[in-house]
Amino acid sequence: MEVETKGAKVYTFGAGDAEGDRSMKALLGGKGANLAEMSSIGLPVPAGFTISTEACDYFSKHNGRWPHGLKEKIAEGVQYVENIMDTKLGDSEHPLLLSVRSGAAISMPGMMDTVLNLGLNDDTMEALARHTGNERFAYDSYRRFIDMFGDVVMGISHSKFEKAIAEIKKKKGVENDTDLDIDDLKEVVDRYKAVYRKETGHMFPDDPYEQLQFAINAVFNSWDSERAVKYRRINQITGLLGTAVNVQAMVFGNMGDDCATGVCFTRNPSTGENKLYGEFLINAQGEDVVAGIRTPKNISELQKVMPEAYDELLTHCTRLEEHYGNMQDIEFTIQKGTLYILQTRNGKRTGTAAVKIAVEMVEEGKIDNQTAVKLLVQPNHLDQLLHAQIDSDSIDEESVLGKGLPASPGAAVGHVVFSSEKAEELASDDYPVILVRIETSPEDVGGMAAAEGILTSRGGMTSHAAVVARGWGKPCVAGCGDIVINYKKKQFTNGSKTIKEGDWISIDGTLGAVIDGKHEVVKPEMDDDYYTFMNWVDEYRNMGVRANADSPEDSARAREFGAEGIGLCRTEHMFFGEKRISAIRKMIISETDEERRKALMTLLPYQKSDFRKIFKVMGGLPVTIRLLDPPLHEFLPEGTDEQKEVADNLGIDPQKFADIVRSLKEFNPMLGHRGCRLGITYPAITEMQSRAILEAAVELKQEGVAVLPEIMVPLIGTPQEFHSQKMVIDDVAKEVFEQTGDSVEYKVGTMIEIPRATLVADQIAKEAEFFSFGTNDLTQMTFGYSRDDAGKFLKIYLEEGILQHDPFQVLDTEGVGRLVELATQKGREENPDLKIGICGEHGGEPKSVAFCYKQGLNYVSCSPFRVPVARLAAAQAALE
Ligand code: ADP
Ligand code: MG
Ligand code: MG
Repeated sequence: MEVETKGAKVYTFGAGDAEGDRSMKALLGGKGANLAEMSSIGLPVPAGFTISTEACDYFSKHNGRWPHGLKEKIAEGVQYVENIMDTKLGDSEHPLLLSVRSGAAISMPGMMDTVLNLGLNDDTMEALARHTGNERFAYDSYRRFIDMFGDVVMGISHSKFEKAIAEIKKKKGVENDTDLDIDDLKEVVDRYKAVYRKETGHMFPDDPYEQLQFAINAVFNSWDSERAVKYRRINQITGLLGTAVNVQAMVFGNMGDDCATGVCFTRNPSTGENKLYGEFLINAQGEDVVAGIRTPKNISELQKVMPEAYDELLTHCTRLEEHYGNMQDIEFTIQKGTLYILQTRNGKRTGTAAVKIAVEMVEEGKIDNQTAVKLLVQPNHLDQLLHAQIDSDSIDEESVLGKGLPASPGAAVGHVVFSSEKAEELASDDYPVILVRIETSPEDVGGMAAAEGILTSRGGMTSHAAVVARGWGKPCVAGCGDIVINYKKKQFTNGSKTIKEGDWISIDGTLGAVIDGKHEVVKPEMDDDYYTFMNWVDEYRNMGVRANADSPEDSARAREFGAEGIGLCRTEHMFFGEKRISAIRKMIISETDEERRKALMTLLPYQKSDFRKIFKVMGGLPVTIRLLDPPLHEFLPEGTDEQKEVADNLGIDPQKFADIVRSLKEFNPMLGHRGCRLGITYPAITEMQSRAILEAAVELKQEGVAVLPEIMVPLIGTPQEFHSQKMVIDDVAKEVFEQTGDSVEYKVGTMIEIPRATLVADQIAKEAEFFSFGTNDLTQMTFGYSRDDAGKFLKIYLEEGILQHDPFQVLDTEGVGRLVELATQKGREENPDLKIGICGEHGGEPKSVAFCYKQGLNYVSCSPFRVPVARLAAAQAALE
C-alpha cells in the first residue's frame, strides 16, 4: 500500500458535507475548521477544500516544495468543487472562480490576505460576461483580481493600482468606482496589467492552475514572513505547524443590486443587546465593507431591501449561536438573492457585553452557567466593566500625546498640575486635575488622592504611582517616556506639542494612552447581570480571594467587590497625615531608645484607631497587617528648603537634621535598611504596631465585633529574623491580654519575598502560622531587576521577545514560580496547617492566579478593583 506523504491530504467541504469539523483547528486552521463544521450542519457554505497546516509545515521545512501527492490532491479538490458548482476552472463556457484564504489555528496579523476571483484571464472573463450576461460585473471582478493578486501574492504596493484607477476616474470626472462604465473598466484592466508587468517583469499569469499554485505558495510563505514570525515570538505562540489554505468557490456580491456582502454579530458586541448587529453593502465584494470606499448600511436595512435573505440570515445566526454556544461574528454574501455564509467565529466583545451575553444565553437555555463562567467572560472583561473609559470615537491619532504603561485602568480627564501641593490646592468637582510627575513618592499621596488620575514619565508597573493608583482604583499611566516634564517651566512636551499647567488632558489607564484635550468619559456600572454572573463564579470557585487595602474606605470597597478578607494592609501609608508624619520623623531622629519610644507612643493612638476602623469594616474576616516595611528616608523631606522647615518644626538644628537625612541615604534602598531589619534594629517599632493591632482587636471584641488579626513580618530571609520578631509580638500580646484581662486569637506569619526565604521555608514554617508571597519583591530579587528602573530595558526585552511578559505583571512561572512552588511544598511539609497566600500585584492577574491555584494556595490577594477579576480567574482555573 502506498504511504501518503504527511500534508498531502486536502479536506473538502460543501453541499451539506465535510471531511473536517470544528475540533480540527490545529490541522485546518480556525477558518477551515469552521467552514467544515458549518457545511456539515447544512449551512449554505460555498464548496471548497482546505490544505492542511501539515502541508505548510512541509513547505517551510523543504525549501518551498510541496509534499508528494499534494498537487494531485489539489486537482481532485478543484474537481470536487467543479462538480458541485457545475463549472470548470479555466473553462471558456462556465468558468469556476476561486477564493484563496489563509487561516491558522489562532488568528494573527501578518498572515496573507485573501485573493478573490482567482481563475480569471481574458478568456474566462469573456466567458463570465457572456454566461452572466453582465459584462460590467466581469470586468469589475477582473480588475479586482489583478489588483489583489499583484498586491497580495506578488507584493506590488496596492497604491500603484490605486494610482492608475484614480487617474482614469479623474479623466472621466467621476468619484466612485461604481461610476465607471464598461469601457473605463476595460482601460482599468489594461492599466493594471501594465502595472503588474512593470513591477514584476512578467506578464500577468493566464493559467488558472498557475495562479492557484502562486497563491497557495504565497500563503505558505506568509507564515514565515518577518511580521508573522515576530508576532508569534512576542505572543509566545508555539506548537503550531503553520497556516492552512482554504480554496473555495467564489460567490458574488457584486453582480448587481440584488447582491450584497456584509458582516454581522449575532448580538451587539458593545452593549450585548440580543439583536443582530452589523453592516452590509449592496453590489460589493470582499473587503469593500471594511475598506471604507463606500459607507456601509446598517444591517437592519437589509430587512427592508432583501427581506427573505435577511430572515434566512437571522435563522442561521440563531442556529450558529446555539451550535457554538457563543456569540458569533459572521461574514456573508448574497448572490442574486441567495445567501451564503463565508465565515463564523466567536465574536470579540466589550466587558459589559460579555457579562450580559453570558447571563442572557444561560437564561435562554442556550448554555449552562458553568459554560458561561468557563468560556463566555474573560477576567479582563470584568476589569473593563468596572472602570470608566474614554469614548474612543472622540480620539483621533493626532491627539495622542504619548503612550505609557497601562498602570491602573480607567479613564480620567482634568487640568494638568505638576505638584501634589497644587493638586490638593486646586482640585475640586469644578476643577478636576491630573497629577503629572516624573515619578511619585509616598509624600505625593495627598496630591494623588486629590487628582482624578496620575501620569508619570518614569517607573514601571510596580512603581509607587502604579501600586497606589491601582489600590485606589484611580486611573494611572506610568512610565510614559514619550513625554518630557519640566517642573520649573510647569509644562511637558512630547516633542511636537507642549502642554502647560492648567491645560486639559485625558488619560486612559487601561490602554496607557495620554490624550490631548478634554474627552467624554463613559462611567461603569455594576448591574443585575453582573451580580448574577458573579454568583455563578463563586459557585465554581474554591480558592479564596482577599484584597490589599490600607484604609477603611478601601476595605469597604474590597468587601463590595467580594473580598473575603484583607491579604495585605500596609501600615506605612498611615503615617502620612500631618501630625503623624512629624511623630514618625521625631522617631527617626531620636538618639536614644527612650526618645524613640516616646515618639512612637504618640503614633500609637492613630494606628490603633485606623486598625479599629478596618477591623470593624471587615467584621470577623481575616485581616493581614504588615509591619513597617519601607526604608526610613521615605519619611524625610528631600529638598533643602523643605528640610529646613521640617527641622524648625521639630526643633532641631537644620544642619544636624540634614546630616541625619544624609546618613539615611542608601545606595540601594530596596536592599537596605527596611522590612524586618527595621523591627530588629528598633524593636520599639514592632512593639508599638503590635500593641496598636492587639489593643484595637481586644477592644472591638469587648464591644461584640468579631476580629481576626494576622500580623505579618516583612522581608524575612532567615528563620532567626522571624523568630526575633515573633518573640516581640508574642510578648506584647501577653502584656496586652494581661492589661485588658481579655484576649483574642491572632496569627503571626511572614511575607516570603526574599529568594533565600523560599529555600529555608521549612525552617521558617516551624514558627510561622502563615506565608504570604510578596511577589513584587520576590520577582525583583530573583531577576535582579530593580522594579523602579526596569521599564527602560524591559520595553526592549518585550519587543525583542527576550521576555514574553513583564514579570512584574505576569508571574514568571518558570523561575519565580518555582520558588513559590518550593516554599509552598517545604512550608506545608513542616506545617500542614500553614495558610499560604500571595499579596503581590500578581494576585489579580489571571494567568498568575491560575498558577497559584495549581500550587494549592489558600488565597490570592489583590487591589480591591481586581477582586472580581481574581474571583473569575480562580473559578476558571478550578474548571480547567
Ligand atoms: P479574513 O481572514 O481577513 O477575514 P477572509 O478569508 O475571510 O479574510 O476573506 C475576506 C473577505 O473576502 C470575506 O469576508 C468575504 O467578503 C470575501 N470572500 C472570501 N471568500 C469568498 C468567497 N468564496 N466568495 C465570496 N467572497 C469571499
Ligand atoms: Mg474573514
Ligand atoms: Mg516587599
